Amino acid sequence: MLDHVRIVMVNTTHSGNIGAAARAMKNMGLSRLVLVDPIATIDEEAIQRSSRAEDILHNVVIVPTLEDAVADCSLIIGTSARSRHIPWPLMTPRQAAAKAREMIPAGNETALVFGRESRGLTNEELHLCTAHVHIPTESSFSSLNVAQAIQVLCYEMRLALAEPVLSGEDEEDGQWGVPWDHPLATHAELEGLFQHMESTLIDIGFLDPNTPKQLMPRMRRLFQRAAMDKTEVNILRGMLATIGKNRKPG
Ligand code: SAH
Repeated sequence: MLDHVRIVMVNTTHSGNIGAAARAMKNMGLSRLVLVDPIATIDEEAIQRSSRAEDILHNVVIVPTLEDAVADCSLIIGTSARSRHIPWPLMTPRQAAAKAREMIPAGNETALVFGRESRGLTNEELHLCTAHVHIPTESSFSSLNVAQAIQVLCYEMRLALAEPVLSGEDEEDGQWGVPWDHPLATHAELEGLFQHMESTLIDIGFLDPNTPKQLMPRMRRLFQRAAMDKTEVNILRGMLATIGKNRKPG
């Protein structure tokens, strides 16, 4: 199941941190590292700090945006050293690993997203995530080195996911305790819904694009919390299309 978990590092500045992250991952049995628009390159320092996890560095995937990194994922966990403006579902590393344990057998890909050394993830990046994880720390000194934060999350993923699956029945039951009829929507499908919703809300005059306030972040939070399946997303998009079609001109 660890194969279905990817580590995503956003705009990493220090190559040593990429190497140390690869080592932390390999120790725990993870192998998929995605770098979003990295500032550092995979240089000699990265290779040294990876110890003998060079294979992970060779297989690294580099993408321009966070959206590209998580498009096919249904569980996207953003990590943060501090709390942010709008409250978002917040988990401990252990709870996040338990969530991955529920969702992966049903075919859902998981991403763990880590921010810049200097300033973490932006609010917009955190709003792309299903849930946030904060590693419990002293409140006055809450920021870990990014590779050490990756180590903690990978350790929890290993404890939750690496043990042998005991029964096939368990696999089928998925996250709500019964076999589900449709797979969960992916990030790209949810993004399609959010864009459709935003443009419809602007068209019908509910959302003023000049003063959007926090409407769309709140809608994202609501619908990401609902863990919608593909059919549910299609139904909502059908509703939006009908609202758009029936709108009275003027
Ligand atoms: N000064 C930045 C800290 C960045 S630390 C800020 O205030 O946001 C770099 C990255 O390490 C973070 O983006 C996060 O991915 C991870 N990280 C550091 N400390 C963490 C913690 N206590 N819990 C979860 N992730 C943490």
